[in-house]
Amino acid sequence: MRKRIFLSPPHLGGEESKEVEKAIQSNWIAPAGPATALFENKITAYNQTDYCVAVNSGTAAIHLALIVLGVEKGDEVICPTFTFAGSCNPILYQRAVPVFVDAEKESWCLDPHLLEEAITDRIRLGKKPKAIIVVHLFGMPARMDEILNVAKKYAIPVVEDAAEALGSVYNGQHAGTIGDIGVYSFNGNKIITTSGGGALVSFNKEWIDQARYLSGQARSAVPYYHHESTGYNYQLSNISASIGVGQFSVLNERLKQKRKIFETYQSELKKHNFLFQEENLNTFSNRWITSILMPPKSKKSLNEEIRLVLEAENIESRPLWKPMHLQPVFRHYPNYLSGVAERLFGGGLCLPSGTSLAKEDQEIIIQKLIETAGYTV
Ligand SMILES: *Cc1c(COP(=O)(O)O)cnc(C)c1O
Repeated sequence: MRKRIFLSPPHLGGEESKEVEKAIQSNWIAPAGPATALFENKITAYNQTDYCVAVNSGTAAIHLALIVLGVEKGDEVICPTFTFAGSCNPILYQRAVPVFVDAEKESWCLDPHLLEEAITDRIRLGKKPKAIIVVHLFGMPARMDEILNVAKKYAIPVVEDAAEALGSVYNGQHAGTIGDIGVYSFNGNKIITTSGGGALVSFNKEWIDQARYLSGQARSAVPYYHHESTGYNYQLSNISASIGVGQFSVLNERLKQKRKIFETYQSELKKHNFLFQEENLNTFSNRWITSILMPPKSKKSLNEEIRLVLEAENIESRPLWKPMHLQPVFRHYPNYLSGVAERLFGGGLCLPSGTSLAKEDQEIIIQKLIETAGYTV
């Protein structure tokens, strides 16, 4: 049996063990430390943003973003229905109410028109949303110009969940630095990793200072332990950060590799009418995970059939996100739907996109896809 091929496994570059060794030699085996600060500087330098706090997960970063924006019990927060639960679980941590908005056909990200519909409807009901979460799905930047226009019109702050989109660019700006506050994840499956980690970035110093304070148990700057707010243990360990420092030296290479993998899939599978998340003049995707839609008119469960064929070869693939409004835990919250997210879930598949994917293995995957589709198209 072939060694399992995963969707997006970690891929170290070689510098990581040196950085970890440095951290160990200096005995900084602690939450936060010099590597954490260095890692934060790498992020701000790369993304040309001003302030950054590294934390122990992307989910924690979203939670802190909502807190610094003042989201409290009973407040409503808009979130795409087509995303990973990590985007919206923090809304519930605040005992706030998620309002789910459907995806738009090209980017698969938040639909700006439905967003405005949702906002005006919530305002009509006397529940003006406190924040908007935008997600750059599979690395593809959302339609930020239109989304920010709507957000500005109603004066609602925008949290950019760029967990999957480090390295993606929209109109010359890095994903995560376009809205009011941005979030990255360095989970093991993301384009670069700290094994587990995240970061919050912004041009607003106060927000990042506040998030940093809350991430370290909200300790006041006095010699004894003094607390004026509820804090969290969300700091990124110095050891994890040292892995991240090493990973930054391969980020540009990983970007090239991810895009190459996508281009190979696209050039082979387009001929067979498979559909892809398309870039436009404004967008540059890091192509974190290549995701496809089954050819129009193909039989209903073709994606599941392909998944099983690949699984039999010990190759991992996965349906696209199951929409949040269909999840038992979220199904009771308000939603504004067009059917796009359900169609993407019903007819899509995420393909192995690890930067260590061998060319021959990718060829096998492509061949299996074409063969399986061949019986049904
Ligand atoms: C990975 C991910 C998160 C959560 O990040 P963690 O670091 O795993 O907590 C949030 N949103 C999206 C879209 C993600 O892909």
